[in-house]
Amino acid sequence: MTTVSAYAAPSAKAPLERTTIERRAVREFDVLIDIEFAGICHSDIHQAREGWGEAIFPMVPGHEIAGVVSEVGPGVTRFAVGDRVGVGCLVDSCRECDNCKAGLEQYCTGGSVGTYNAIGKDGEPTYGGYAQKIVVDENYVVRIPDGLALDVAAPLLCAGITTYSPLKHWNAGPGKKVAILGMGGLGHMGVKIAHALGAEVTVLSQSLRKKDDGLKLGADHYYATSDENTFKELKGTFDLILSTVSAPLNLDAYLSLLKTDGAFVNVGAPEEPVALNLFSVIGGRKTLAGSGIGGIQETQEMLDFCAEHGFGAEIELISADQINEAYERVLASDVRYRFVIDTSTI
Ligand SMILES: [Zn+2]
Ligand SMILES: [Zn+2]
Repeated sequence: MTTVSAYAAPSAKAPLERTTIERRAVREFDVLIDIEFAGICHSDIHQAREGWGEAIFPMVPGHEIAGVVSEVGPGVTRFAVGDRVGVGCLVDSCRECDNCKAGLEQYCTGGSVGTYNAIGKDGEPTYGGYAQKIVVDENYVVRIPDGLALDVAAPLLCAGITTYSPLKHWNAGPGKKVAILGMGGLGHMGVKIAHALGAEVTVLSQSLRKKDDGLKLGADHYYATSDENTFKELKGTFDLILSTVSAPLNLDAYLSLLKTDGAFVNVGAPEEPVALNLFSVIGGRKTLAGSGIGGIQETQEMLDFCAEHGFGAEIELISADQINEAYERVLASDVRYRFVIDTSTI
């Protein structure tokens, strides 16, 4: 076991504070990673505050992890000391179900293990990336290409793959009109990736406040959803709408913006069930779907894609003592576009 400095929430209503945790000794197929940067995902806040139900405390959040390998187990074949690597939302899965075999570990039916706020197969709680080191099985570690700086790569491990996977699955590319709904941590990655895939990209955001940024990141058009004319003007326009919004939406209104056979895909989810008039999907043979993060192989593909196209996330780098303040700013949508913790300050 190794004692490691970390930032943890001691309980659901308490602020995060500096502490130490124990990391397991490196096993046969494990790599020890010296974490350099960890992104702050909105779901860290949901979980640290028990917004998604009962959680395990103390909690060290963080599933957007970038660092350097500092030790490998004797059975490790894919990584060596000094490699630049990342860890996302999963650190293990059953490896036997159809989904695991198909590289869809995120949909593992035999029990996947979250990077934090979960119980590992050894019965111990998992602790995430707001820490100086982490030990992970090599099969759940990805390589960060040399062309990508580690700080801007960290948010790709959740925000990047969460948008890349559905954009690929629903064939965003040349000749396709894609709308990204919401211009936050996920949305800004959706814009960059959809643009790099060759799609014609429209941002649908509550206001035009971030319009300049959106256009700079690759959007071709930018509309305010608070303006009713937006819905009249864009009726029947899109092949794909990717919703990164977790506030309740008028789904019928958004479905009317799709072409025949278009798809509305949710990666954000409101806490309450939503109402829907099913005629909104019957007319035009439309699809209403969801998507969650991505598999390990696909996460590697996404990192390689981002490196090839020369972009990471847009970030605000913070020190560990700013984490609690950053949480408040995320809740107020006051971040452009992802906070990343310099974990050397933990
Ligand atoms: Zn996340
Ligand atoms: Zn599985």
